[in-house]
Amino acid sequence: MSWHRGIWNRFEQWVELMNAGLRGFARFEHEIGRLNDILCAINLLSWDAWTKMPAAGAVTRGQQIATLSGLAREMATGEAMRDAIEAGLEEAEARGTEEQRRALLLTKTTIETLRRIPEALIVEAAALKPRAHESWIEARARNDFSSFAPLLEETVRIQRAMAHAIGFERHPYDALIGQYEPGMTLQILDGLYARLKDALLPLLDTVFSRPDQARLDILERSYPIEAQKAYATDIAASMGFDFTRGRLDDTVHPFEVSLTRQDVRITGRFHENWLPSGLFAVWHEAGHGIYEQGVLEKFTRSAFTTDIVNLYAMGGTSFGMHESQSRLWENRVGRSQRFWLVHFPALRDAFPEQLADVDAMEFWRAVNAVRPSLIRVEADELTYDLHIILRTEIESALIAGDVEVGDLPSLWNRKIRDFLGLTVPDDARGLLQDVHWSAGMIGSFPTYTLGNVMSAQLFEAAGKLPAVAKGLDSGNYTPLRLWLGEHVHRHGRSRTPDEILREATGSGLDPTAYIDALAEKVRLLA
Ligand code: ZN
Repeated sequence: MSWHRGIWNRFEQWVELMNAGLRGFARFEHEIGRLNDILCAINLLSWDAWTKMPAAGAVTRGQQIATLSGLAREMATGEAMRDAIEAGLEEAEARGTEEQRRALLLTKTTIETLRRIPEALIVEAAALKPRAHESWIEARARNDFSSFAPLLEETVRIQRAMAHAIGFERHPYDALIGQYEPGMTLQILDGLYARLKDALLPLLDTVFSRPDQARLDILERSYPIEAQKAYATDIAASMGFDFTRGRLDDTVHPFEVSLTRQDVRITGRFHENWLPSGLFAVWHEAGHGIYEQGVLEKFTRSAFTTDIVNLYAMGGTSFGMHESQSRLWENRVGRSQRFWLVHFPALRDAFPEQLADVDAMEFWRAVNAVRPSLIRVEADELTYDLHIILRTEIESALIAGDVEVGDLPSLWNRKIRDFLGLTVPDDARGLLQDVHWSAGMIGSFPTYTLGNVMSAQLFEAAGKLPAVAKGLDSGNYTPLRLWLGEHVHRHGRSRTPDEILREATGSGLDPTAYIDALAEKVRLLA
């Protein structure tokens, strides 16, 4: 014990000496690097909790993550960081680079946002989270929204207080979206959603006015999981996910997490009798992973791989831009006709009996079937955004105080009928289906639709390059990945989503490419 403490003390003295010796920007880099280390450790503990940990470890793991999160917040808002930023700014103003100034200002402004949230509110939100999660699990199992309602009321009250603490110009919801998508507002979303609804609803009418030709039964045959995994992994590697700097593990709800660009973890979940969900989830998560692996090496442990507002180690510039990368590989590439023309033969080699009576175009049609669904995560591309629009409308009204939690069941069910023509049979398949509200993540849903829209813009711009288009026809994804690396991935958080879009595509957020892609799909499916 005592020798151990002795070594620890000496280590601390050494760190202090190192700090004392560091000046200017180097001191700032040192502080940010330390914060990033803690955030990567939290990511690793979370990855482990969702993949390997025995269930009995949940309580102590929650405490470990809470302790490290508290430490990260103390580091971000503490004096050492403030002094390091001041020291950095002094040097950067005198003789620094544009990149150094950006890193300092980005950190400074995001720390100011973090500091505006009172400590008491953060403690309250953290204490509510496990209670709300447990109540949500139980309510969903028993199909009883009313038992979760009091916890949701508390969540809304806390999130509303957060919005007011962070500050906003027009609508309190703007403050919450801004945590996930800097610069995004409800007003911008309203304009975007109006255009999407105008385009999607007539497209759906077209689809539903003709006979449904999709053979979904071919996806429900018995597909051994190891063979699914091998097939999905091969293609993820050809898309550019580097397995020497990453790995794929099993989980319940697939996700991606980065512990620097050198170690990017993706997870999947396969179903023997439902082929598409496992395959597309791997390509989706690989898209997230390729983004993280593609951030410039010099940004490792820097301000450009540290999300200060969410205290999260991530190289992607926003949640929406991140989602644009996953959806680009999953949908724009993976659900295209040319993809299945190239890759169906290998799938049939892997499952010769199951797919003996199926051809590439039948398979493509099956994985693109349009069927309105009650469940967001099972929704097809044409109805998916309607699920997001509905959630945004409800969340923003809750935060503004325009609707009460008690109004939600009837409101939800009415909107599902209006948008999708479906009747909600129970709360579990209604407003209890998503984990987000129990996790206090109000304001994150819009980033899924933003991801869809941006994925189509970027894909369209990349496709103008002959090498990219030619590669897509032959299953060579290197030109596309290199284009994305050059215009999106390498920047990390050193560019805003808007800057990246404008430089890469020549325009800001614009749903035209996305609407065109969906209209083209409806035409092909005819
Ligand atoms: Zn995703």
